Amino acid sequence: MTEENNNAPSDFIREIIDDDLREDRNQGRVATRFPPEPNGYIHIGHAKSICLNFGIAAQYKGTCNLRFDDTDPSGESLEFVESIINDIHWLGFDWEDRLFFASDYFEKLYQLACELIKAGKAYVCDLTADEIREYRGSFTEPGKESPNRNRSVDENLDLFERMRAGEFEDGTHVLRARIDMTSPNIVMRDPVIYRIKRAPHYRTGDTWVIYPMYDFAHCLSDALESITHSICTLEFENNRPLYDWIMNQLISGSRPQQIEFARLNLSYTVISKRMLIELVEKGLVNGWDDPRMPTVSGLRRRGYTPEAIRNFCAEIGVAKNDNLIDVALLEHCVRDDLNEKAPRVMGVLRPIRVVIDNYPEDGVEEFEFANHPQNPEMGTRKVPFSRVLYIERDDFQEDPPGKYKRLAPGREVRLRNAYVIRYERMVKDEETGEITELHCTYDPETRNASSPDGRKVKGVIHWVSAEHSIPAEVRLYDRLFQVADPASESGDFTEYLNPESLETLGPCYVEPSLKNAEPGSRYQFERLGYFSVDSGDSQPEKPVFNRIVALRDTWGKRAATGK
Ligand code: ATP
Ligand code: MG
Repeated sequence: MTEENNNAPSDFIREIIDDDLREDRNQGRVATRFPPEPNGYIHIGHAKSICLNFGIAAQYKGTCNLRFDDTDPSGESLEFVESIINDIHWLGFDWEDRLFFASDYFEKLYQLACELIKAGKAYVCDLTADEIREYRGSFTEPGKESPNRNRSVDENLDLFERMRAGEFEDGTHVLRARIDMTSPNIVMRDPVIYRIKRAPHYRTGDTWVIYPMYDFAHCLSDALESITHSICTLEFENNRPLYDWIMNQLISGSRPQQIEFARLNLSYTVISKRMLIELVEKGLVNGWDDPRMPTVSGLRRRGYTPEAIRNFCAEIGVAKNDNLIDVALLEHCVRDDLNEKAPRVMGVLRPIRVVIDNYPEDGVEEFEFANHPQNPEMGTRKVPFSRVLYIERDDFQEDPPGKYKRLAPGREVRLRNAYVIRYERMVKDEETGEITELHCTYDPETRNASSPDGRKVKGVIHWVSAEHSIPAEVRLYDRLFQVADPASESGDFTEYLNPESLETLGPCYVEPSLKNAEPGSRYQFERLGYFSVDSGDSQPEKPVFNRIVALRDTWGKRAATGK
């Protein structure tokens, strides 16, 4: 590695690229692509692939294309295309004018398939899907040749043309690559490369009734775009010989190289698209952007920043072996980022009324608060104080344990950046016995200062003025699943959903500076965690907050102690 880029990430893929550049392969070009199928919203696993592909392009002054791999019409839609474009831009990446669709290559791919037929390397097969599977053999048994394997080129060309013309029913004919039915790699046993499927395509309508299979379309799309490094996940390792075989038959000159890396798996969630689709379609979550979802749109709505997600992807790096990443690391990344950026405010989630008996009835004063303890350039704001306040219900205990530092009978506590108050009495609901109100007195001498007379007041709690505060709804999120790896548990993964993954609180009370907080903006509620203004349901003067993450950082602690 050279002096000037010793901060650049390094991993086995970048080592391969360094090597290629040293050997002057691909005329020194680096061209990658991100190839989503528009059949769902992208998730944090896709973000890993996006950061990798766009990150490599930026690092090597190359290019990264966005290519929609839209070769299977079922389940694909424009809604998904638009969401993916929006999400990648939001993550901070751009493909300039290099937006492509595999469906734009359908004619070209058809012609290339004809080339393959003419070279005697593909044939139309009319075995049924079941028969094809049966003929394919197994790991221990070689496959059996299809009776159609030795059709003449002319017959194959004629049949393939008639497949395209819609003469045959779905499933009656396929085009297969003619490779080797005895190959130890089952993928190479005459794989299907075209099938008949009468399904309208969201871009090409009903122009086509045959569609190329992934293995055929993907590598050729890469070649048509002069991709140099085609980075994909490990499950395609066995398909690499097929990728190379197709390249060898049809592409002259420099060819893209497929490189596989381990997909991201994240604990306490699922990130397979199939499972995410199921959660959405069965209504088990509130849509793709439910703040509990590991989708980019869900994380955004929750309040995650693009920087936090990019830092997370950099942190986990790129490896060749599958593993399960602790979701605490993702939480650590967002906490780390927001600790720098998020203004501090006060909000009370589970309020109890506090009346300051010796404070003037109509008295109001304003206390000046720093918006960020370490960043004075973030400015200050005024927070009103009055006779009736709200504090957190659990900042008072009727019968506290010895070390309790907050409010209790006979005790004092400091109201953050305001006065020290002393407990006087409580009011209980006669029927339920629940405490409904606390009465306290304040000491005017303690305004903004440390307590006089050498009195020790250890506890500092947050508060809002009842009259001035704004009622808000607050949504607390917990992990979506109760088990670390729901996808690998026996039975249906939805059985492991955490029934307590969403807790809605209200009315909560937040300080008046949040009256017109912008949807999507993020704050640290002092002592409670980081919160965002919900971009779907929040309204002016009726804010809805999502808790992004609590304050406690188990990851940072673990990292520090090496556990
Ligand atoms: P899923 O397996 O979740 O259904 P997919 O691979 O079918 O996802 P695509 O839209 O085809 O979804 O994926 C686009 C790109 O993102 C591919 O290159 C794929 O390898 C990569 N990708 C998908 N899931 C992950 C993941 N969990 N970690 C890293 N990369 C991923
Ligand atoms: Mg895929």
